[in-house]
Formats: sequence, structure tokens, C-alpha cells
Amino acid sequence: AAKDAAASGAGAAADQGAPTIFDKIISKQIPANIIYEDDTALAFRDINPQAPVHFLVIPKHRNGLTQLSKSNEGHEQLLGHLLVVASKVALQEGLSDGFRVVINDGVNGCQSVYHLHLHILGGRQLTWPPG
Ligand code: 5GP
Repeated sequence: AAKDAAASGAGAAADQGAPTIFDKIISKQIPANIIYEDDTALAFRDINPQAPVHFLVIPKHRNGLTQLSKSNEGHEQLLGHLLVVASKVALQEGLSDGFRVVINDGVNGCQSVYHLHLHILGGRQLTWPPG
């Protein structure tokens, strides 16, 4: 319950433009293990990996996308690009036998950072359903 309260608070703060930890990674104020970067997207290893390969793909500019449920038609190109980057980097990381892409949305989705991000997980046999 405490995590839920914190998460909804973080979501509300980010909606109002509050920076998140990912802004500091984008601006290189704090270090991250960056494995891909282009004009609009950044991929870096998750600090708390849940699989042998676990990285995040984020838009460099949030463009209102604190979470997927804030998306609209104006985000289609960016969202498509993030998926293509996810796939490209997954193959670069050797995940040719498959991988999983996850977007946690909001409190029930267990989202903790309110800057849209794709999780890419692989390097072992994953199970289904997730928790
Ligand atoms: P969420 O729960 O919002 O879907 O996922 C946020 C993810 O960001 C978590 O998997 C968490 O481990 C990761 N994360 C949080 N802070 C940092 C950080 O400072 N550096 C990196 N590399 N990952 C982070």
C-alpha cells in the first residue's frame, strides 16, 4: 500500500513536469550503462535486473508520456520507434531465441518511474503468466 501511494504521488508529480531519475540519466548527471542512443531514444541496463539481460528503452523527451495510458495519436511515431529500438538492441544483446517487452502502467501495473519506459528481458526461459 505504501508503494502504491508513493507511485500515484510520483505519477501526479511527473504529470506536472517534475523530473524523474531518468531525466538525470538522459542528461548524464548520473551514470547508467547505456547500450544504445539516438536522437529520440535511449537504452540502458536496469539497475535491478530481473533476467540475465534486462534493459530499458525510454524516449529522451517525455512529451507527456509519463505512462503509456497518457498516450494519444500524436505519440504513434515515437511509440513505434521505441519498439523498433527494443527489438534491434535485443538482437544486439544476443537475444535471438526470444525476449519479452513489458510496459508497467500506473499503480496496478507496478510502475515506479513516471517517464515511459519499455522493459526488455531475456537470456533465460521466461515463464507466463507474470506476477
Ligand atoms: P517500473 O517499475 O517503473 O516499470 O520500472 C522502473 C525500473 O527502473 C525498475 O526496473 C528499476 O530497477 C529501474 N531503475 C530505477 N532507478 C534506476 C536507475 O537509477 N538506474 C537504472 N539503470 N535503472 C533504474
